[in-house]
Parts: sequence; structure tokens; C-alpha cells
Amino acid sequence: MSVRSVSVLGSTGSVGSSTLDLIGRDPDLYRVEALTAHSDVGALAQAALRHHAAIAVIGREERLPDLRAALGGSGIEAAAGRTALVEAAARGADWTMAAIVGCAGLEPTLAALRQGKTVALANKEALVSAGALMMQAASEAGATLLPVDSEHNAIFQCLASNRISDVRRIILTASGGPFRSWTTDAMRGVTPEQAVAHPNWSMGAKISVDSATMMNKGLELIEAHHLFPVGLDRIEILVHPQSVIHSMVEYRDGSSLAQLGSPDMRIPIAHALAWPARIETPCKPLDLVALGRLDFEAPDATRFPAIALARAAIAAGGARPAILNAANEVAVRAFLERRIGFLEIATIVAETLERYGPSDPGGLDDILEIDRAARLRAEQILESALT
Ligand code: NAD
Ligand code: MG
Repeated sequence: MSVRSVSVLGSTGSVGSSTLDLIGRDPDLYRVEALTAHSDVGALAQAALRHHAAIAVIGREERLPDLRAALGGSGIEAAAGRTALVEAAARGADWTMAAIVGCAGLEPTLAALRQGKTVALANKEALVSAGALMMQAASEAGATLLPVDSEHNAIFQCLASNRISDVRRIILTASGGPFRSWTTDAMRGVTPEQAVAHPNWSMGAKISVDSATMMNKGLELIEAHHLFPVGLDRIEILVHPQSVIHSMVEYRDGSSLAQLGSPDMRIPIAHALAWPARIETPCKPLDLVALGRLDFEAPDATRFPAIALARAAIAAGGARPAILNAANEVAVRAFLERRIGFLEIATIVAETLERYGPSDPGGLDDILEIDRAARLRAEQILESALT
């Protein structure tokens, strides 16, 4: 295999560091181009030095002197700020992991797609806010978009060598999160510590809270709708607490294909890294005998209203998914900062969607403006709820 250049956007996060873990196990196969992070200079510099990156980019401009100092004498280029993040993504690496969290990842991810190479996509919020734009950019540039989110990676694998027109249903599995069997009343007092302690997966704080509210499954429904155009009414959600079946595709002849694996993100990341080949991973093989059973239940729309909010937002289309995402980002942050309670997350998203109705976005600038305005609106709703 020839050496491939790789970039990791969001390299210090949970998905980013799992990606570098795999790359570091076979360093002769890869040449690391750009690594980026938001503010953790120490972790970014360490990763850049370890993987001999060509450039390290920190989002927060004021951290540039620290980054330069940390990389001093290494020959690794240092840069900072939003424009530098986008430029790093546009350096044309053969393979780019898009693992920035939130709509903040949209511009860099789009820049990577526009290079016409391979983009492994973890950053689901970008696709939720700007799905049509991203899919169009990928197709115009001839880019290969490989889904890394475990469910979408599973669906991608189950679709291989089949026709999308033969799909009867896509079944998106959900763990149900840490509060799957809690009453609404019990969820009222949930703390950030309880919400980020996911039963199966170890992930960044934002997606962990999304899993707890099940907004994560709502975002994933929108993500699936863009990646696999079978029609929204053919995508269903099934709660499966063990997170072993990562998703399923049912065909019109009655065959259902599923992808199974231990709940370790290095498995879907390795799939995207090696695709269409396969590589070894250090992940625990699945032991179905030890597991004994797999359970399934229907999602509870009353206790987890976020799923219906997301489905309605994508069904309505236009600016709605971007507003949903922006309001959710604001509300999750406020919850993590202990400014609001757990149940208020979905309430704030619902109210923002009710009180903000911009016209349909055209291009990227419109979407960024809708994202900005929706955040402002969500903050106002949050503030007024506090006083
Ligand atoms: P994380 O919080 O652990 O890491 C986020 C990364 O993005 C960090 O490197 C951080 O420095 C960077 N970042 C954050 N804000 C930024 C900003 N404003 N500008 C530039 N960079 C910024 O998050 P994560 O859990 O690794 O998730 C990353 C993405 O992957 C999310 O979109 C998430 O939904 C998705 N995802 C994660 C998992 C998982 O297991 N963690 C699974 C599926 C999908
Ligand atoms: Mg997922």
C-alpha cells in the first residue's frame, strides 16, 4: 500500500484521538498533514510531535504563541484561528477525519469535501445544519464521504453491493442512554455528571448529553436522511440497550442485514480509514455467549421528546434542522454549566423552533447566519426562563 496523507480535524477529542491511536499503530502507512484542536495546546502539540504532522492549528488565536513555543525547533508549522482551520482542511490530504464537535465544524468539513478526496465524517452537526449543501459539495468535487458515526457506518456496510431502491426500511439502533428506564420526574434532577456517564460508549461531553436526551438519535435520523436517501418515513429508530447491533437495513425481499461489533469507535473509524480494505484493530472481539442476549424496545416519545422534534424539523426542511441543532448546542452547554435542568434542554429547542422562522437558506452564508441567530434566540429564551 502506498503512503497516504491524512488530516484529523478535532484531533484532541474522543474520535480524533481514537483516529490517531489507529494511525499510530501503523505509522509507515500514513503521512500526517494537519492536526487541529480548539484550545488544548498541550494535547495538540503532543499529538503533532508524536505523529510528525506538517501543521498544527489551534482554533483560539490567543493560544498561538503557546503552540509555537510547544512546537519550537520541531519544524512543524503552527497556525491559529477560524481561517487557519479552514485552510488546514483545504490542504488536500488524501483522507480527512472530520471530528470537530458542533456546527463549528461545518466550514472546515466543507473545505475538506471540496478537495475531492476522502472525508470520514464524525461531525454530524455539520450534516444536520447543512445537509443539502454538504452532499452537493461532495458530489460536485467527486469526494468520497464515509460515515463514521457507528450507526451510519453500519448502514453503509449493510448497503454495500445492494441497491438503495431495494431498501424497505433502515433501522437506526439507539442505546437509550443512561436514563432509558427513568421516569420524567426522576430525570428532572439529573446532573451533568450523571448525563455524561454513558452506559456503553466513552465519548465527548456534548454527544454524551445528546445520547442522554436522545437528541443524538434525532440528529442521527437527519444525518441518515442525507446520507441514505430512502425517504424519511423509511427510517425507524429502535432502542437496543447493549449497543451491539449498530444498525440494520431491511430489503424488500424480507432480508435484514445488520452490522455488529463491540461498542468501540475504533471499529467504524478503522473501517473508514482502510475502506475498501480492512485493517486489524485492538478492539475486543464480540463475545455473544458472554453477552447471552440482545434486547430491543420501542423509543418512548413522551419521556424523550427530542426525537420527535428532530423528525419534525427535517420533515419541514429549510432552516429548521439548523435551528434545531443550534438551539440544542446552546441548551446542552447551558446544562453542562448548570444553568438549566436536564428536561429544559428539549424545551429550549422546542421554543426556539417555535419563535424563530427564517426563510429557507440558500448557501453557506445563510446557514451560518441562521445558526448565529438561532443561538441568540435560544440564549434569550434561556435567560427569560431563568428570571
Ligand atoms: P470531543 O468534545 O471529545 O472533541 C471535539 C474536538 O473538536 C476536539 O478536538 C476540540 O478541540 C474540537 N473543537 C471543539 N470546538 C471547536 C471549535 N469551536 N472549533 C474548532 N475545533 C473545535 O467530541 P467527540 O466526542 O470526539 O465528537 C466529535 C464529533 O463526532 C461530534 O460531532 C460527535 O457528535 C461525533 N461523534 C462522536 C462519537 C464518539 O464516540 N465520541 C461517536 C459518533 C459521532
Ligand atoms: Mg452514533
